[in-house]
Amino acid sequence: MVNGPVTPPTPEVVASHVTAQVRWAVSERVHGDFCIERVGSDLLRARQRALVDHPWTLVHQVHGTDAIDVITPGEGNFAIADIVATSQIGAVIGIWAGDCVPLLLISPSGRLVMAHIGWRGLAAGAVARAIIMLEESVDPAVRRADAVAVLGPHIGPCCYEFSRVDLERVATAIGSDPTMISPPHHRYGTVMDMGAAVSHCLRSAGITDLRHAPGPGAVCTGCDQRWFSHRTRGESERHVMAAWRVS
Ligand SMILES: [Zn+2]
Repeated sequence: MVNGPVTPPTPEVVASHVTAQVRWAVSERVHGDFCIERVGSDLLRARQRALVDHPWTLVHQVHGTDAIDVITPGEGNFAIADIVATSQIGAVIGIWAGDCVPLLLISPSGRLVMAHIGWRGLAAGAVARAIIMLEESVDPAVRRADAVAVLGPHIGPCCYEFSRVDLERVATAIGSDPTMISPPHHRYGTVMDMGAAVSHCLRSAGITDLRHAPGPGAVCTGCDQRWFSHRTRGESERHVMAAWRVS
């Protein structure tokens, strides 16, 4: 059962230098739980098609860096991976999240990558792996400077108390100063700014056109109860972010 209206997809024109028509959608609490570990596959398939009525590949994430490339729309639905890519028109690729960053990368030729970026994935190089997947393209003219990155709803530094030891580990792994990903906080000793960390990785790799979904600005899953949050509310449910080409 889908209990509410579907979030309208964002406008199809992503950027003037992206030649493909690309859309994305972000589910909200009202659209139900999209976690395969909790929801049976039949119900989950129904929720997928209610949100976007095209064949889906929603990966079963494990906070790693494994990636799959979808050639036939719908193949690999619920396969274990944290990164999923496609160049195929009509193939919906999606990841679920409940505080982690859903990251969409779009190449100028319309190749798409969705990645699930939690702090462990960040430290393990998941953003770099996602960028590599973006460039496994049939179009040799792909340039990072013309790529677009879209960050979905994720927990903000306002709500993400974090271990100092793990912060140092992440900062070292991504080549960042710890203060760049951990702003001062009035209540917590140390916090993590996942959006800043992911943005640092993208900009360091030459991807500078950064957007937010559903936009226009970043939203915190801890502060905004339209989305699920494990950290702030102990919720085990997951929302989903999906993307697909329409041409
Ligand atoms: Zn917050």
